[in-house]
Amino acid sequence: ERSRCFNFSAGPAMLPDLVLDKIVGELGDYDGLGMSILEMGHRDAGGPVQEVLQEATDCVRHILGVPSNYAVIWQQGGAHGQFAAVPLNLLRDKTQADYVDTGVWSRRAMNEARKFCTVRVCAELREEGGRLEVPPVSEWNLSDESAYVHICGNDTISGVEFLEDLDLGDRLLVADFTSTLLSRPVNISRYAALYCSAGKNLGPAGVCLVVVRRDLLDFALPQTPMVLHWKAAAETSPIPSLANTPPVFSIFACGHVLKGLRRSFGDVGTLDNVKRRTQRRASAVYKIIDESNGFYINKVASAVRSQTTICFTFGRDATVQRQWTGSITDTVKPTDLEEAFGGIRICLYNGLPDEAVDEVLRLLRDFAVAES
Ligand code: PMP
Repeated sequence: ERSRCFNFSAGPAMLPDLVLDKIVGELGDYDGLGMSILEMGHRDAGGPVQEVLQEATDCVRHILGVPSNYAVIWQQGGAHGQFAAVPLNLLRDKTQADYVDTGVWSRRAMNEARKFCTVRVCAELREEGGRLEVPPVSEWNLSDESAYVHICGNDTISGVEFLEDLDLGDRLLVADFTSTLLSRPVNISRYAALYCSAGKNLGPAGVCLVVVRRDLLDFALPQTPMVLHWKAAAETSPIPSLANTPPVFSIFACGHVLKGLRRSFGDVGTLDNVKRRTQRRASAVYKIIDESNGFYINKVASAVRSQTTICFTFGRDATVQRQWTGSITDTVKPTDLEEAFGGIRICLYNGLPDEAVDEVLRLLRDFAVAES
């Protein structure tokens, strides 16, 4: 019996107890081979490391319903690596790209892209009648000269999420799904590429999942470093993602997270079931915020309210935030409940148990009553 505290931070996030048990259980001696998976070679064709890689990839394909004309690869360098990889792999003969600015992570992606091309901000978060909203696609200032359109699926810091998969027609839509993948089903075919750095729903940090349409694999600039080159990763033999030594532990652990999802949420409609839980948990938190008569404030319009990273401030004054911090008990540390970019943030990733959500709901209710 482990003594666990609840981690509401933006990541690295909690892993379910069962997943941790599986990882620990298999780690010392993998499959009775007298060695751990961490000590085995990745070049052994059909060997344990390739098996683990293949299994995790198959699980991603199954759970997300990835169509066969998309490659699934694992790269290092996290989402920041992909901030550079996206322009490098997609610019081809173009010199500019369109970016939607919904917060800090959108801008971080732009800052890397600016090293390789002209970045056009085609749309940004705006305040309308006291609500933060993302303009509809019909109002985006898109350019035919841009190689692709980049969005941040869930801007972890601003708490703004695209809750639906956008339809950009023939334009190449690229999305950073780092803090939202595996929280709902995704219509992959709407995207040219999407990426998700582990550390939140996917598993422990150290690897970044990339799903990319195969017909785009010839779009890379010639100077693209091999470790960020999607085609180089997609076409290694006998399976993808063996361009160099893969981060075996991360992929092994992500595989366990993915298998755990299938066990807990069913093999059919896994993400439909996850989505129901995600929505139930998020709406319970937003309900308290919205019904607090301005004690708690979240200005994000409901159409783009993050279902995973929920931010709020206190309506009254800054001293309330200090008292809030003091009211947090040891069971919920370490956590962004204490400070997050001028306010408080509650992150409800998949690994967080329901009892933790109950605990934070209680905290929100009790604190509002005590301070009112
Ligand atoms: N994008 C988003 C939306 C994120 O939430 C984060 C991590 N908080 C990142 C990118 C950065 O990921 P990494 O540290 O793996 O580069």
